[in-house]
Amino acid sequence: MPTRTCIVCRKLQDQAALIRVRQSLDGQLSTRGVTGRSVYFCPVQPCNTAPVHKDRLARALRRPVLVSELELLQKELTCQRTQWETN
Ligand SMILES: [Zn+2]
Repeated sequence: MPTRTCIVCRKLQDQAALIRVRQSLDGQLSTRGVTGRSVYFCPVQPCNTAPVHKDRLARALRRPVLVSELELLQKELTCQRTQWETN
């Protein structure tokens, strides 16, 4: 079972247990992307808290992350019934 590090708590976890967000070559973040740089986070608190991710994603991707990008991700996650806390 491959393992990945959560970008929030830095714990090593089974890849299958984590939410994956990919950044495509044109810089778009998506949980459904198939190519590009991947970052992972736990589907439980506090790692699924959106404001936490703004900083952690920015650090992991080495670029600023816009609130609008987080909102798009949030929509995707909601569609997948993955909980994403917003406060
Ligand atoms: Zn975590």
